[in-house]
Parts: sequence; structure tokens; C-alpha cells
Amino acid sequence: MLNIDIQKVSTPKAKPQPGDKLGFGHIFTDHMFLMNYAEGKGWFDPRIVPFQNLSLSPAAMVFHYGQEMFEGMKAYHSPDGRALLFRPEMNARRANVSNQRLCIPEVPEEDFIQAIRELVRVEKDWIPKDPGTSLYIRPFIIATDGFLGVAPSKTYLFVVILSPSGAYSESGMAPVGIWIEDDYVRAVRGGMGYTKTGGNYAASLIAQVKAHDAGYSQVLWLDGVERKYIEEVGAMNIFFKISGHLVTPALNGSILPGVTRDSVIKLCESWGLDVYEKRISVDELIDDYNMGRVEEIFGTGTAAVISPVGKLRYKDDIMVIGDGTTGPLSQRLYDTLTGIQWGTLPDPFGWTMEV
Ligand SMILES: *Cc1c(COP(=O)(O)O)cnc(C)c1O
Repeated sequence: MLNIDIQKVSTPKAKPQPGDKLGFGHIFTDHMFLMNYAEGKGWFDPRIVPFQNLSLSPAAMVFHYGQEMFEGMKAYHSPDGRALLFRPEMNARRANVSNQRLCIPEVPEEDFIQAIRELVRVEKDWIPKDPGTSLYIRPFIIATDGFLGVAPSKTYLFVVILSPSGAYSESGMAPVGIWIEDDYVRAVRGGMGYTKTGGNYAASLIAQVKAHDAGYSQVLWLDGVERKYIEEVGAMNIFFKISGHLVTPALNGSILPGVTRDSVIKLCESWGLDVYEKRISVDELIDDYNMGRVEEIFGTGTAAVISPVGKLRYKDDIMVIGDGTTGPLSQRLYDTLTGIQWGTLPDPFGWTMEV
């Protein structure tokens, strides 16, 4: 149990008003959570302070060798006035999987959740209330030793910042176009693909730019060795509904185990759908497509929840999925998941936690 010191701002900022376009990730709340770590001492000095710039040595190891991890989750405002988190214990556990891979000291799961709950409680009025809006939560840890040697840092800073965010897509659940990248790769088995760390994103930018220039909004990554098997999309896992079954790439060490992915699998199984986690090659997908068996494709992630895919490009092949509208399974998953998250539907799995 952390003993969190709370230092409040004297003049709070103006909060966004109902109807304001919030976008994603550029508005921050009045406060943030900080906690330091030093070798031999452990985590210490947990505190909630006014949102402000950090002061670090230009030699801080995070700047040079990327020893960093982050998480992404949301707080939702329910119609009866509660603030809800969605499966925060999954994020706390995954944070420590990332920490372990990056030689960052672990944060006890209950401390991770307590830090987030106390910060969100302080900022409860910042949770937007318009349909589809939420308070995005970004916990992260950086290596702070001012030292240019390559070794794990002996000091760290754990930070949590909050950002009110708008409905993911202004146009509702409009299907997106996906570029299957056949040259660059994001991660390999044995690498860091299963962790949330900045380096994975740095490695992905070049293909993202390439896809955007070609008119596609997201990149679908293939495995890093043979560039043959489907892995995941930018910041989303991917699902295919083929001949009435749901198929998603098995977690193999280079894929990020999404909380939304896990929730979709559990929901679909509870609906009696067969869900297969397996290795899927692009060739197999193209065959299924040509045989008319591909019924729906969608990405899953905290930001968009469910993002239907309307078009896929692989080399010279373009696959058009469905009729340009959202498929029935994608829609049902979106409605059910968001209903549970916003507290408007029953929560049979006990997934939400009141702040
Ligand atoms: C965060 C993330 C996801 C989605 O995970 P959720 O827990 O569902 O938000 C998928 N892929 C990558 C690379 C990610 O960073």
C-alpha cells in the first residue's frame, strides 16, 4: 500500500466542455503521479503533483538506449456517475512483463493500480461525458541515470499522466484500409514484440509513413523471420472471421498480448463461437479470400476498441472485405465491450473496477 502525498494545483485549468472535439493525446489534466526508484532503496516517494515538465540529465539513459516501458488504459464515466476502469489488473501484470524484459524493476501490481485509482480520483471531473469519450491513462517508466555506459540504470522514474480523449473515429466505426508490410518488420521472436516499449514504435514509424503515403491508415506486420505469417496491426491485434469461425494469430513472443484481444476471445467463446489462436500465413488468407470465405476482419485495442478493416493490400493484391460497412460481429463486439466499459450493460465477467 503506497502512502501517496498529494499536492494540488492552486489554479486548475479550464476543462473541456461537452461537445468539444478532444482528439487523442494532446490535452493533459492538472495533475500527474510520480514515484522514484533507486537501487538498494526500491520504489519511494509516491506523489501526485501538478502536471509539469520533468528535469533530467541530458545523459539520462532513457534518451540514449531507450530503457523505457509504457501502458495504455482508460477511465470511463458511467451514466450513474461512477468512474470505471477496465481490467486494470491485466495492465498491471503486463507492465511487469515489460519491466522484466527491459531490466526495469517491477512495480507491485497493487501499487500500480492504487497509483492509477488515486490519480483518477483526483481528476475525476476530467473524465469526459460525451458518448464514446474517455480519460486515457498513460503510465510509463524511464531510466534516469546520467551515465552513457550500456547497462541497466540504477534509478528510474514511474510517471502516470491522463488525457481526456474523444470518440476514436469522428465517423463512427468506419472500416479502415490496411497495408500489409512485406519489407520492414516490427519485432522478432526473442526480441521485445510482446512488451509495450518505445523502441517497438520507433521501429514501426517508417512503414507507417510508407502506408500513409500510399493511402492506407494502418500497417499489418508479418513475422520478422519469413515475412509470411500475420502478426498484428500498429497498436492493435487482428481477428479474421472465416467460414463462421474466428481466427487470430497465436501469441508467439513477437505479438503484444492485448487486453482487448483477450476480452474479444472470452466474449466470442461465451457466445458459442469457435475461436482459434494459430499461425496464419498471408497466402492462406488470400486463398480464403479468393474462395469467398473471409466474412469480417477487425483490429482490437484500447483506443479504438474494435476497428473494422474494409481493405487490405499485399504486394499487388487488394482484398476488399464486405460492402464498406461494419460487419455484424464487429458491431456486436463493439456494442458489448463499450457497454461494459461505460457501465451501460451488465458486466458478467467482473471486468470493470470502480475508481
Ligand atoms: C497496446 C497495443 C495493442 C493493444 O493492446 P490493448 O491492451 O488491447 O490496448 C496491440 N498491439 C500493440 C503493438 C500495442 O502496443
